[in-house]
Amino acid sequence: MNKQTTNKTETVNHNKHFAIVGAGIVGICCGLELQELGYRVTFFDDQGFANGCSHGNAGHFATEQVFPLADPAILPQIPKMLLDPLGPIVLKPGYMLKALPWLTKFISNMRSKPFQHNHQALQSLNKDAIEYYRPLLAKANASHLLTTRGSLLVYENTPLSMIEKDLNKYLAGGVQVELLDKKQLVELEPTLSDRVNYALFFPDVAHTCDPYELCLALANSAMANNATLIKEKVTGISEAKQKVNIKTAQFCHQFDGVVIATGAWSKSILKPLNLKLPMEVERGYHYMLSNNHSLTRPVASAERKFIMTPMSKGLRLAGTVEFAGIKAKENYKHADKMLQHSYALLSKSTAEPSKNKEDRWMGLRPSLPDSLPVLDKSPLHENVYLALGHQHLGLTWGAKTAKLMAQLISEQSTSIDLKPFSISRFQ
Ligand SMILES: Cc1cc2nc3c(=O)[nH]c(=O)nc-3n(C[C@H](O)[C@H](O)[C@H](O)COP(=O)(O)OP(=O)(O)OC[C@H]3O[C@@H](n4cnc5c(N)ncnc54)[C@H](O)[C@@H]3O)c2cc1C
Repeated sequence: MNKQTTNKTETVNHNKHFAIVGAGIVGICCGLELQELGYRVTFFDDQGFANGCSHGNAGHFATEQVFPLADPAILPQIPKMLLDPLGPIVLKPGYMLKALPWLTKFISNMRSKPFQHNHQALQSLNKDAIEYYRPLLAKANASHLLTTRGSLLVYENTPLSMIEKDLNKYLAGGVQVELLDKKQLVELEPTLSDRVNYALFFPDVAHTCDPYELCLALANSAMANNATLIKEKVTGISEAKQKVNIKTAQFCHQFDGVVIATGAWSKSILKPLNLKLPMEVERGYHYMLSNNHSLTRPVASAERKFIMTPMSKGLRLAGTVEFAGIKAKENYKHADKMLQHSYALLSKSTAEPSKNKEDRWMGLRPSLPDSLPVLDKSPLHENVYLALGHQHLGLTWGAKTAKLMAQLISEQSTSIDLKPFSISRFQ
């Protein structure tokens, strides 16, 4: 490392060396794939590895979710959902005006043409997304953190004709899926309650018993291969003669390139780079049940809109979309509400409401109004790459994102067409 001192900040030059700003699942995987290309990698994250949204998600590699969140099918349900302050989708009073531009764009993406376009892009990104994790996990000696037992979408009161409609929609979307009746369902998951009548079974889907451990295992693998973590907040990114300057409060570091993977915090990082990003955060919650560990695969409720994933430390209940901005205080009543839902879905639930604060968690999903992430090179800067906006599916897409970014950086042809994921769509 070659150091130069300036008046205000110290400049550190790094050779054949990429910076990754943001060390969530997306940044960590990008670091690993850049190492495969022969780059040295330095992660910048003031929170350390995986303490943002990647920390407490539902651990579901949800490759069946090939339909954009901006789905016209949810429109009739929205007014009822919004009237319930602890419902699955909540708009915090007072946040309406701030959320309005994003919501307008979101609804506009429900039109037939953008919906089809976004659906096809999601199909291409979801295809084989789990497979991209296998070599990374194998190298990290962490293959046991990925379990492929499929997942269930369960129904209590929905008429069979509507469930068959959902089934056909998934089949038409190229998703492997089976309709199960109560008897078949009980064979797969005997501890589901009698209220559950049908389920869609997605056999190809996987889950992890601990998303945080998975991130740490991958991060440790990168660190063992000579990566560095700088636990500082990045305050600015700029170009400098074929190089990129990464500024923190104390230093200005120089690299050959940077991948920006700052999740929910990306808008403010991109603004000084003159890149517009219509990002909104969809706040989600989890509730950890340590004494109830009966399920063997993720079970999502179609009606209650939350998911239960069996993990090594218990059963994780996760869900809720709360629009309240990046800074609002957590409202853990949303997490408590999921506990109530779990009583309805699990027979003989023995779970007591937890007194332990750490059993509740809130994370910020980084969402763009067309439900697609940005996977691109900045059109305005040399050597600045963008991997952000992974909404509800960042765990699912982490490894595939990283491979695509590595292909982009090394100017190889990419495994899928990256045009739908360009930043230019917002400029
Ligand atoms: C309740 C819930 C359940 C979910 N369940 C699933 C699921 O089952 N499957 C799935 O695929 N996805 C799921 N998700 C979504 C998934 O967790 C996210 O899409 C994913 O974690 C995003 O990863 P990321 O690396 O982009 O962002 P993050 O993990 O948030 O990482 C971004 C990092 O950037 C850092 N950072 C930001 N600004 C700066 C700066 N200026 N300088 C330095 N560092 C900075 C932050 O500290 C943070 O660590 C869920 C989300 C929630 C909330």
